[in-house]
Amino acid sequence: MTTIKIIPFSGNDTPDDGVINTCVHCGLCLSSCPTYRETGLEQFSPRGRIYLMKAVADGRLGMESDTFQEQMSACLNCRACEAVCPSGVQYGQILEASRTQIHAAKEQGTLAPYPVSVKVVRSLVFGKLFNDMRLFRGFSRLLWLYQKSGIQWLARKLGIIKALGLADAEAILPAINNAFTTPQGQVYPAIGTEHARVALLSGCIMSTAFSHVHDATIRVLQRNGVTVTVPSAQGCCGALHAHGGELDGARALAKQNIVAFGSTYDAIIVNAAGCGSTLKEYGHLLHDDSAWVERATAFSAKVKDISEYLAALTLNTADLKPVNMTVTYQEPCHLAHAQRITAQPRAVLKQIPGLKLIEMAESSLCCGSAGIYNVTQPEMAAQLGHRKLDNAERTKAQVVVTANPGCHLQLAGGLQQRGSQMRVLHIAEVLDMAYGGMER
Ligand code: SF4
Ligand code: SF4
Repeated sequence: MTTIKIIPFSGNDTPDDGVINTCVHCGLCLSSCPTYRETGLEQFSPRGRIYLMKAVADGRLGMESDTFQEQMSACLNCRACEAVCPSGVQYGQILEASRTQIHAAKEQGTLAPYPVSVKVVRSLVFGKLFNDMRLFRGFSRLLWLYQKSGIQWLARKLGIIKALGLADAEAILPAINNAFTTPQGQVYPAIGTEHARVALLSGCIMSTAFSHVHDATIRVLQRNGVTVTVPSAQGCCGALHAHGGELDGARALAKQNIVAFGSTYDAIIVNAAGCGSTLKEYGHLLHDDSAWVERATAFSAKVKDISEYLAALTLNTADLKPVNMTVTYQEPCHLAHAQRITAQPRAVLKQIPGLKLIEMAESSLCCGSAGIYNVTQPEMAAQLGHRKLDNAERTKAQVVVTANPGCHLQLAGGLQQRGSQMRVLHIAEVLDMAYGGMER
């Protein structure tokens, strides 16, 4: 008789049984899950995925199961299920642990290895570019050259990009502006009376493709009596590592940032929802490390999203000039679901004179970006992207406001492909406009 070998969870980062067993299978999360909404299939739902994790945890299924591996990858980690779960299931934690188990088993050879192309991309992304911001900025400069030298134009004109099947991925490549926010301890003093001193997370994509958003964020904070420092030696937040099954890589970056930021600032300001949510979870990430857990928890307590921070201040409305524009607001998942910040961005926007906010349908349903999801799961990402843009365009607003670089790129790329006139702006850019810091 042949014995079928089951590959169990093992070692560090085993999905917590206590969390898995909190799920009472009520199904109340199903309607908020984007992949369930698109497919109508139980296995594409949070409850279906938790069933699979439980089956592996109980030894009824092994990690070699194609369905298990596919579903751990098909999930967006948008955490919409977590936000509505009446039992408080910490879904993000068990998903990231499951992905880390799969990754470790592939590295150890217990599971079939990644295809060579995936292995190369993973080692480039997780081992190099997002591990060392000097490399990331160097790579970004090459991208800038590709975009500005005419090579991009030529490759598109000759149909090379399309022939390589890279048209969709290329459409969401950020436009690099070559004026990076390289963290060097820069200090931007408060305008008027100083009320607070904060540190700004520079980040990876935010510091290269979106450095203009950093400029806007700094100007808005200065206008509100806040001195902003960009501490040197900070790195990537570790979100991509954590979401991609490399929790040890995320832990190393967390420690780097805890040291770089120190403990003297009143707050640590983040203008990218995915990064903010990861920084707020450093305490959990390092909960098993007695040498770090206390510092990590104290660090996380200081992290604030820019709209969360501004909404808690008495906003300087005296200097706000009218911005006669109609906008709709697209909620980044890691702001709305992971950080539960939904009212603050709207409250801030509503204080801008002349600005009209028109709500779109399904504002908090994932746009399909989800880190590198639009590269690993292009079909589902495209479906969700179209759904989001249909909802946005129905409002007939001039601008979609968001607060996360992944969403920004996904929306802007999709709108460009549609030939739409609608623009995408970060909430800090809109406020900066009102303060007269950015051209209207
Ligand atoms: S995750 Fe929560 S909402 Fe979803 S089925 Fe389980 S208990 Fe119910
Ligand atoms: S994280 Fe998002 S995609 Fe994944 S199961 Fe939960 S709601 Fe669905």
